[in-house]
Amino acid sequence: MDHQPTTHATHGTRVVPRYNYRAQFDDIGHVVAEMHDCLLEGRCVLSSDVTSFEEEFAQYIGTRHALGVNSGTDALMLTLAALGIGPGDEVITVANTFHATVLPIVRVGARPVLVDCGASDYLMDPDQVRAAISERTKAMIVVHLFGGVVQLQPYLDLVERHGLHLVEDCCQAHGARWNGRRVGSVGTAGCFSFHPSKNLAAAGDCGMITTDDDQLAWRLARLRHLGQDGQNSHVALGWNSKLDALQAVVLRHKLPRLDEWNALRGRVAARYQAHLDDLPVGFQILEEGGDHVYHLFQVRTPWRDPLLEHLCSTGIDAVVRYPTPVHRQPAFLDLGYGPGAFPNAEMQANETLCLPIRPDLEEDDVAYVCEAVRSFHRAHAAR
Ligand SMILES: *Cc1c(COP(=O)(O)O)cnc(C)c1O
Repeated sequence: MDHQPTTHATHGTRVVPRYNYRAQFDDIGHVVAEMHDCLLEGRCVLSSDVTSFEEEFAQYIGTRHALGVNSGTDALMLTLAALGIGPGDEVITVANTFHATVLPIVRVGARPVLVDCGASDYLMDPDQVRAAISERTKAMIVVHLFGGVVQLQPYLDLVERHGLHLVEDCCQAHGARWNGRRVGSVGTAGCFSFHPSKNLAAAGDCGMITTDDDQLAWRLARLRHLGQDGQNSHVALGWNSKLDALQAVVLRHKLPRLDEWNALRGRVAARYQAHLDDLPVGFQILEEGGDHVYHLFQVRTPWRDPLLEHLCSTGIDAVVRYPTPVHRQPAFLDLGYGPGAFPNAEMQANETLCLPIRPDLEEDDVAYVCEAVRSFHRAHAAR
C-alpha cells in the first residue's frame, strides 16, 4: 500500500493530514485506462458504467434500487420531492448536522422542524421527534452522524403509528449496519454522498439514493432526468441531477474495499480511545450495540479552541465539525430558533473537535496525535 509521507519536506516537522487519496487506489493505471475508454467512446452520462455501479451499490446496501445523482444534497432534495413533500408540509430533523441535511427541506418548499441530539451520542433524540410531530409532519430525516448509527426502532414505530416517511441521511455512514442491515436499506430511502471527504470518495461531487420502493425509484429516475419519461416527453417538473460515468469508474474501483476501510477506521478509533482514556476528554458514545464507521472521530473538551490551536500548530490536521449548529446559521435564522434552543447541539458545536482519521493512518501517527493531546493537557494542568 502507498503511504503519504508524514514528514513535511521543507520544515522537517511531522504532519498528520486528514486525507490520503493515494492510499485509496490500489491500481490507478486500471482506473485511468477505463476513464480513457469512457472519454474516447463518449460514455459520459447514464452509461453502462453508471448502471453497473448502481447495481453494485444496491447489492452492497441491500436494496432493490440505487439511483445515482449529482450530490448528497440532491439525493435528499429529489427524495423529498419524489415523496410529494412540499409547501405546507413539515419535515423533522436534527439541529447538529451538516447544512445539506436541512437545505433540501427548504428547497422543496417544506418547513424544517428541528430537534436536539443526545448529550453523549450526538444523535437525534427520538423522544423529541415524537413530541415534535404535528398534523403537517410528512417525514423524518435521521442522520447517522459522524458514522455513528441511529437506533432506528423508535423511528420505525413512529412511521407505523403516524404514516410518516423515514429518510436516512447516510452521507457519513456508508456501509454501517443497524440490526444486521446496512443503513440506507431500513427507511423509505437512503441518501448518500460520495464527496471526496466521505468514507467512499469520488473525484468530485456525486451521490446516490437507495430504496426498495419500485414506485419511488421510478419517480426518482424521472425527476433526476428533467422529469422525462422518454425523449422529448417531459411529464413532471424535475432537475438535471445525474452521477457521471467517470465518477462511476472511480467508485466501482473503491467499493470492494469499503468494508476493509471501515474496519481500519474502527481500529484507529479504538487506538485513540485506548491512548486517551485517562485524560479528561469525552468521546461519541453510542447506545449499546450501535455500529460506527468513524467518518469522524470526535473528542470533547471544554478547552476545545486552545486544543485545536495546539494540534494545528504541531502539524495535526484537526478540525471542528460543525462550529455553528444549523439553527444558528444566518441562512436559517428565519426558522426562529434562538440561542439555547438546542443545548446538546450547541454543546457539541462548542466543545468537540475531530482528530484525523483515515483507514491508512499508521500506529505511530496515532501515537503522535495522542502525545500532542497529552502535552496540551500537561501544559494546561501546569497553568
Ligand atoms: C456531505 C453531507 C451531505 C451532502 O452531501 P454533498 O454530496 O456534499 O451534497 C448531506 N448530509 C450530511 C450529513 C453530509 O455529511
